[in-house]
Amino acid sequence: MQRLQDRVAVITGAGSGIGLATAHRFAQEGAKVVVADLDEEAGAKAAGEVGGLFVKADVANEDDVARMYRTAFEEFGSVDIAFNNAGISPPDDDSILETGIDAWRRVQEVNLTSVYLCCRHAIPYMQRQGKGSIINTASFVAVMGSATSQISYTASKGGVLAMSRELGVQFAREGIRVNALCPGPVDTPLLRELFAKDPERAQRRLVHVPIGRFARAEEIAAAVAFLASDDASFITASEFLVDGGISGA
Ligand code: NAD
Repeated sequence: MQRLQDRVAVITGAGSGIGLATAHRFAQEGAKVVVADLDEEAGAKAAGEVGGLFVKADVANEDDVARMYRTAFEEFGSVDIAFNNAGISPPDDDSILETGIDAWRRVQEVNLTSVYLCCRHAIPYMQRQGKGSIINTASFVAVMGSATSQISYTASKGGVLAMSRELGVQFAREGIRVNALCPGPVDTPLLRELFAKDPERAQRRLVHVPIGRFARAEEIAAAVAFLASDDASFITASEFLVDGGISGA
């Protein structure tokens, strides 16, 4: 029997990076995976690779989010795991003095409002079952700030962390665990795009990682699979840091 045998898992942003690696890991551990992404090509490819079901969804759109969980429930009969992971990187100059209100709002919509919408629509299914595991992707910057000036991004991830704590406490007695995943820098297209624009930023970041390298997406996926599984049955409302020691330095 595998750890996630027949659990139904909905993963947002599963077409790339951390979400994609987690889709593979969940499938290896026996889960039925719903791959959700805005990018139709990447999402469909990922679903094919893991033998899952693709749902095209914009996580900032409530109708899309509702349809995503409804599809999972109708196709597979439950929603056991929600990995609310889709997100975007900071705008080009994300310092408090430069970021305009439109850029700020877009980051909050995709990174924070999306998690609110996903929790709002996943929890009723989990309440009916009397169990469930929600993992919301925050970031190490949510607990320590960032030296690289990314105010809208850091604020959005702080919101994800606070919301996860609140919901973890609120729904603990109903068997629903809610945790915030806080990765350090991970070698994914999101990070590569950021560093391509500002190569010095990569060096500045790397210096602060005690382990001396960026994470592989598979290393984050392993932590997500743990949080999703019954091995983490006493872990809720936590900030789960997988950051190579960056927040401890
Ligand atoms: P990525 O860019 O490789 O993948 C993100 C995926 O989300 C893409 O497939 C993209 O199409 C999808 N997406 C973007 N906007 C969407 C929307 N509105 N609706 C649905 N899907 C959408 O990024 P990643 O590095 O794997 O990041 C995943 C999460 O991890 C993000 O929330 C990110 O903020 C967070 N994170 C990343 C790092 C890092 O260093 N890479 C560190 C900490 C936290």
